[in-house]
Amino acid sequence: MCGIAGIYSHKPVANELYECIVHLQHRGQDAAGMMTYDKRMHKHKGSGLGNEVFTEDNLRLLLGNVGISHNRYPTHGGFSHGEIQPVWTSVPYGIAIAHNGQITNYDELVEEVTQKEKRYLNTTSDTEVLLHILAKELNKDGTPQTSEEFFDLLCEAVGTLFKKVKGAYSVTGIIIGKGLIVFRDPRGIRPLVRGERDNKGGKDYIFASENTMFYSMGYESKGNVLPGELIYVDNDGKVFSKRLVKEEFNPCIFEYVYFARPDAVLNDVGVYRSRLRMGQNLAYAWMKKHPYVVPDIVIPAPSTANTAALSFAHEIDVRYSEGLYKNPFVGRTFIMSGQKERKRSIKHKLVPQDTEIRDKKVLIVDDSIVRGNTSREIVKMVRNFGAKEVYFVSACPPVKHPCYYGVDMPTSEELIAGNKREEEIKKYLGVDVLLYQEIDDLVEAVTRKGDHHIKNPCMACLDGHYKVNGRKVHELV
Ligand code: SF4
Repeated sequence: MCGIAGIYSHKPVANELYECIVHLQHRGQDAAGMMTYDKRMHKHKGSGLGNEVFTEDNLRLLLGNVGISHNRYPTHGGFSHGEIQPVWTSVPYGIAIAHNGQITNYDELVEEVTQKEKRYLNTTSDTEVLLHILAKELNKDGTPQTSEEFFDLLCEAVGTLFKKVKGAYSVTGIIIGKGLIVFRDPRGIRPLVRGERDNKGGKDYIFASENTMFYSMGYESKGNVLPGELIYVDNDGKVFSKRLVKEEFNPCIFEYVYFARPDAVLNDVGVYRSRLRMGQNLAYAWMKKHPYVVPDIVIPAPSTANTAALSFAHEIDVRYSEGLYKNPFVGRTFIMSGQKERKRSIKHKLVPQDTEIRDKKVLIVDDSIVRGNTSREIVKMVRNFGAKEVYFVSACPPVKHPCYYGVDMPTSEELIAGNKREEEIKKYLGVDVLLYQEIDDLVEAVTRKGDHHIKNPCMACLDGHYKVNGRKVHELV
């Protein structure tokens, strides 16, 4: 999972791209990077949070009114400096891209790039392969003179890329002397939203994984980059767009469960409202299945589950309590790489509140149960603080299958629901009652309202039905 942004503006973009990185920090804490251009490309990137990577001094060197940024959360490739995005190539033009997602036919494409095209790959990152596929397609004969001609070339290049590259990819890019480009894979698996604002001299344009920074930067939401769409903003701010391919729209449902910030609106669905509805549907299921089990208190596993817990408590008419205090200065558990780090960090970041827990029947609401470690630790904490009984509900159905579209769930063995039955999970977590959301109820929660077009979201990690087949996925299904 990563966060990307791209801005075309009538003023320097470096500070605003930094703001994008800060507002998308929840999507990737491993590294951050930015590239801008005026007459030449300017770049800065490094490991860590945005505020560790960027300083006033290095931001000042990122000149230009067009640029892209990236928050990294590695799902493919290693941990070297070279893997940090944006990635770039100098032929043709000078192209840089930032990518959110994961490519499923990576091996096949590597062969094409290295064997057929004789291009050298610096890293094992799928983004670098994506860059070279794009560069190869743009490196055709002829020199487009006008923006219209260049857009025709782009359409041809990205159209071919759409045919070749399988998997999930939302991309922002800059091309020296030409402008800003963005495109989203034909299934629209990863989000990509767009915004506009008036500026002296004309309109500014922003494209980003979420619209979380639009308000503070004065941008107005203009919906989404459509699946299979290519958008090009030339150096003069003229916008060209075309939907090159139309396939079934399969946006990731896990964005609504966990990844996206609650204030984001993705694919025309508000994340906050969808989480409220998840809690509501889960509460109806609870009352149906366990009408005589009434907790004294409903506590969210902070903080993604806060919203679902709020509506859950409201529906079952039980007090909502923030009985686990979360230290906001520790990174998100799920996003941290390495099991050891994960376990250690749970205790460091969550502190149970005695008054809210002792001698009570506690119902914990979590957004999902992925590996099960965090949930187990939370249950232990709550028991240690004197809970009489502990019930656990998950706003997401059992996560049973790996994700090949950009989320770090590598093997079924690591997923607790991938190799344990519900009764065993209940025992492992040490809870008196365990309830998972039903898949239909989750889909209903996301799609109940709004002028959206989500009929078949990607739920492969829940139902094992992979919508895009690359070689790796094909072996699995
Ligand atoms: Fe999202 Fe799961 Fe699909 Fe991955 S497999 S894209 S996490 S819904």
